[in-house]
Amino acid sequence: MIGFELNDEQRALKDLARRFSEQEIIPRAREYDEKEIFPLDVCEKAFAAGLINFGVPAELGGPGLSILDTCLVIEELNYGCAGISNAMGANDLAALPLLIAGTEEQKRTYLGALTKKLTFCAFAITEPGAGSDVASMATGYRRDGDDYVINGAKHFISNGSRADWYVTFATADRGLKHKGISCFVFPANLPGITRSRMHGKLGQRAADTGEIVFDNLRIPASALVGREGEGFKYAMATFDRSRPTTAAVAVGIAQRALDECLRYSQQRVAFGQPIANFQAVQFMMADMAINIEAMKLLTYKAAWLVDQGQSPNAISSYAKAFGADACMKITTDAVQIFGGYGYMKEYPVEKLMRDAKLVQIYEGTSQIQRVIIARDLLKR
Ligand SMILES: Cc1cc2nc3c(=O)[nH]c(=O)nc-3n(C[C@H](O)[C@H](O)[C@H](O)COP(=O)(O)OP(=O)(O)OC[C@H]3O[C@@H](n4cnc5c(N)ncnc54)[C@H](O)[C@@H]3O)c2cc1C
Repeated sequence: MIGFELNDEQRALKDLARRFSEQEIIPRAREYDEKEIFPLDVCEKAFAAGLINFGVPAELGGPGLSILDTCLVIEELNYGCAGISNAMGANDLAALPLLIAGTEEQKRTYLGALTKKLTFCAFAITEPGAGSDVASMATGYRRDGDDYVINGAKHFISNGSRADWYVTFATADRGLKHKGISCFVFPANLPGITRSRMHGKLGQRAADTGEIVFDNLRIPASALVGREGEGFKYAMATFDRSRPTTAAVAVGIAQRALDECLRYSQQRVAFGQPIANFQAVQFMMADMAINIEAMKLLTYKAAWLVDQGQSPNAISSYAKAFGADACMKITTDAVQIFGGYGYMKEYPVEKLMRDAKLVQIYEGTSQIQRVIIARDLLKR
């Protein structure tokens, strides 16, 4: 049997997130985007409201939301602003490798700390020379007595210059490709770590995107997450779980674009009538609605399957690729419906278009999702 009804708890959660978005995010979105202001104040309020660290289990003091419930919240937060929501959501990405492969001690220390007071963490895999091609990473590690020593650099890391701790990935031998990669967790204030915020993003500008350099960073053996050489596997398992939530980012941005268009098209007059009367404009909005419905179905299905402990047929990649690409088209059409005003910063839709572009890039580009899907199709 298939059911599409949200239960009472899910409705309440969605309402809470919608109210938070309206009251705390939307009023700040434009200014924070323009000035690249990190939304610390919003994150503090989100922490108090239980709208951060969604996946941290209840036994560690977190909300312990399923991926599906997380998607419902993320959708509403991103309706308000994808940049501010990125700052709120990055903790969950970093929490996943620990939930997948961390020891009880690592979970207690790092995930437990997230729930005591507002702190941040970051998932750092991308490097200047290796993004899509994760297995080519240059950041290396070697064993030295009871320690590991890491050298290298990561960039484009969400909350990278803010994080209190990092989950990162390094290779013992680049020649081993994905089999050489291990995963580590450690505090961000250790000697040998320098970091800075990267500026000048096109969209999601309130979010902190950081660069981190590891210069003879020495960490204890207990910083290893899971088993040596299995880091690539944990990273891919992380993305399987996180991609439905990224698809939910796309749903939130797209829904906002449609709502803005519905409002504007009934007010803007051309040729003596509201532009909503023109079939060309109606069809663009109808296509937006069709796509948003399809995005939701795919997102919820992927999230639900992941929650059941399955991710067949690379379903998370379907949701992420379809959602990101549809969102880009929807927000571009929204600018079109607003005409010249759509191109100006005084109106909300140019920001939606800029924010949408990033969804096609992070957590694996739209092309990489298709690589994953095609590989799965061909091996069946
Ligand atoms: C704002 C922001 C936040 C981010 N947050 C994080 C984060 O928190 N943690 C983290 O680790 N990373 C993060 N990233 C990095 C992001 O995941 C990478 O940018 C992304 O995976 C693409 O890597 P790249 O930029 O090196 O592009 P490249 O890998 O150089 O790709 C360039 C182009 O080539 C295409 N391409 C590459 N390989 C193939 C192929 N095999 N087949 C077809 N096309 C291909 C790509 O699709 C793309 O169009 C973030 C990035 C940004 C911009």
